Amino acid sequence: MIVGVLGGGQLGRMLAMAGQRLGVRCRFLDPDPHAPAGEIGELIVADYSNEGAIARLREGAAITTCEFENVPASAASLLERTGRFFPGAGALAAAQERLAEKSLFAELNIPTPRFAPIDGPEDVEPAVRRVGLPAVLKTRRLGYDGKGQLVLREPEALASAWRALGSVPLIAEELVEFEREVSLIAVRSASGETAFYPLIENLHQRGILRLSRAPAPDTPPGSGPALQQLAQDYARRVLDRLSYVGVLTIEFFQSSGAALKANEMACRVHNSGHWTIEGAECSQFENHLRAILGWPLGATGALGPSAMVNIIGAPPILPEVLRVPGAAVHLYGKSPRAGRKLGHITLRAPDEPTLSARTERVRAIVAAAEAGGGVG
Ligand code: AMP
Repeated sequence: MIVGVLGGGQLGRMLAMAGQRLGVRCRFLDPDPHAPAGEIGELIVADYSNEGAIARLREGAAITTCEFENVPASAASLLERTGRFFPGAGALAAAQERLAEKSLFAELNIPTPRFAPIDGPEDVEPAVRRVGLPAVLKTRRLGYDGKGQLVLREPEALASAWRALGSVPLIAEELVEFEREVSLIAVRSASGETAFYPLIENLHQRGILRLSRAPAPDTPPGSGPALQQLAQDYARRVLDRLSYVGVLTIEFFQSSGAALKANEMACRVHNSGHWTIEGAECSQFENHLRAILGWPLGATGALGPSAMVNIIGAPPILPEVLRVPGAAVHLYGKSPRAGRKLGHITLRAPDEPTLSARTERVRAIVAAAEAGGGVG
C-alpha cells in the first residue's frame, strides 16, 4: 500500500513512521533533497509545479495527501483531478488565505477575533478603525509561525504598515487579550466517521509554538467538558462544510470564562498534536492515514497527562534530556539554524505536578542549547 505525500518535512516523516507499522509506505515529493522524510520513505526531489513528478508521486498510490499548508493550488487540483487527494483542494484553499478562513468561520457562526480586509494602503485606516487598536495586521497568504505579521498599538504606526508587510493583501484583526491558546485536533474518515483529541494548551513565543500540554489543564476549574464540547461543535461544522477527510486542526484563543475564538485552521497533522505519538491511544499520524484510507479510526483518548517541548534552533545535550523520566526524544534530521524546528520532546507522567516538574527541567535544557546556539 503506497500513500503519496506532497511535502517531505517532519510531519511527513512522522506520517511515514506511523505508516510503517500498518504496512503503508509513504512516498514524498519535496524540492529539498535533504527533506527530513527522505530518511524514512522514498523522496522525489522536484518542484511542486513539476507535473511529471506529480505523476510519479501518484503512480501506484492508493491515495495522495499533503503535509504542509501552502500546497500550490495547481498541484492540489491536479492530484484531485487524477485520483483521490485528501483533504482536498477546496479545504486547502480555505485554509491558505486568512480572509477566506476567517470568513468561513464567521459563516459557520464560529466566533473569531474581529477582522477586516485590507486590499490597498487606503484600507489600513478604516480596517483598523473597525477592529480597534491594538490590532494585528497579517499577510493573507504564506504567513506561518508569526511571520508576515505586525502589531499596531499607536495610530502613528498605521502609515508605514502597508509597506512594512510587503504591499500585499492583508487582514486586520483585533489583538485578542486571551487567557491562553488551545487547539483541537479533529479527524474525519472517508467513510464519515469522526473523532476528536482532547483539547491542547499551547504556549507560543515570538509566534513559534514552544510548549503544548494535553489534555489542556482545566481552566477555569470545572470548565473542561463544556470547553471540549464547544470546540468539537465548532470543528464539526468545518468538517461537515468542507466534506473533510483527514486530520484537521483548529487553533483558538480562549478568553476569560470558557469562550473560544477561532484563529486559524490547518488542513494537516499539527505540531501541537505531536504528544499523541506517546500520549494518546492512536496518534494523529496514524489516524490521518486511517482516515484517508477509509479505515476505522483509532481511539483518541489520552493515556494520562502529556507535554511536548519543541526543540528550536539547536539540539539539546541528549543525555541530559534522556535522564528525565518519561521523556521521548524526536529529532527530525535537520541541520541547526536559528528559529528552526529541529525536533520535539514528549513528556509523560503519572500526575500533573510530576509532569510540570519534568517539563520545566526539559525546557531549561532546551533553552540553554538554543541560547548557546548549538551543542550536543
Ligand atoms: P498565527 O500565524 O495567526 O497563528 O499567529 C501566530 C501567533 O500570534 C498566535 O499563536 C498568537 O500567539 C499570536 N496572534 C495571532 N493573531 C492574534 C490576535 N488576533 N490576537 C492576539 N494574538 C494573536
